[in-house]
Amino acid sequence: MSAPLLKVDQLVKRFPIRSGLLGRVSGNVHAVDGVSFSVDAGETLGVVGESGCGKSTTGRCILRLIEPTSGSVWFDGKEVTSLDRAGLRAMARDMQIIFQDPFASLNPRMTVGAIIGEALTIHKLARSGRQYEERIVELLETVGLNGDHLRRYPHEFSGGQRQRIGIARALAVTPKLVVCDEAVSALDVSIQAQVINLLEDLQAKFNLAYLFIAHDLSVVEHTSDRVAVMYLGRIVEIAPSRDLYTRPLHPYTEALLSAVPIPDPKVKRSRIRLAGDVPSPIHPPSGCHFHTRCPIAQKGLCDVQAPTLKESTPGHEVACHLRG
Ligand code: SF4
Repeated sequence: MSAPLLKVDQLVKRFPIRSGLLGRVSGNVHAVDGVSFSVDAGETLGVVGESGCGKSTTGRCILRLIEPTSGSVWFDGKEVTSLDRAGLRAMARDMQIIFQDPFASLNPRMTVGAIIGEALTIHKLARSGRQYEERIVELLETVGLNGDHLRRYPHEFSGGQRQRIGIARALAVTPKLVVCDEAVSALDVSIQAQVINLLEDLQAKFNLAYLFIAHDLSVVEHTSDRVAVMYLGRIVEIAPSRDLYTRPLHPYTEALLSAVPIPDPKVKRSRIRLAGDVPSPIHPPSGCHFHTRCPIAQKGLCDVQAPTLKESTPGHEVACHLRG
């Protein structure tokens, strides 16, 4: 079996909280708490969980847009976490990110051509002005936009079109992995479907791997080969997509799934309502982070011991003392 394209091992990210006149560290936000997973070339791994669960921070730590506190990230045989500035710049060609808000992530003062072409210039991927322009037109057409749009500005486009510009910018450097950070969350449902279809077409064409971060399980179901569910900085379940949707093991995954609408009116699913809100990541609960909301938690066990991920069936891992 070949090595995975991306391997994340025991990734931890804490954001220090500073207070007082001297700005002393008075605590930490435990954003990511020992996350491990891998992604193969051409594969899509969905990462889901409520806002604040650490999924976006994980994506950004992988790209080193945020420095991890500890743990390691390996990409294509290189340890990303130990790369210097030049190494990171070279690696940026292979790993790209598409952000949630396509408007905020596109410089309003730059033309679409300049936005997409920036990476071509940085990585010296066009030998002449003509080649540069031809490549931008090609990229615009690849994402379903008109090649003539290169001299327009972001505000002249709709939300869906702006996200296509973001995708064209990511594709300019022919990456191997794209982190899609809530890439379709801000779009209308019909536009979401179009952008997801585009991402799938591009994956088939260029053998792209995606880390598809979303809070909506229904979005991830159709795009992912495997899905990882995160809660308060930890992965609580990871499984092939079909397995996770038909046979969820973790009580939190069950609750998330129960909230996903089923298009068939004959199929009934009762909603599991979790008690309380997600606890603060500044003081995460002891033991299993989910024990304060879990309907089947056992006192003296779940609030004391943190469960680790264990394989239940091939490829299906769950972190729960009572399931698996
Ligand atoms: Fe619930 Fe305990 Fe399992 Fe955590 S370990 S999910 S609290 S049963």
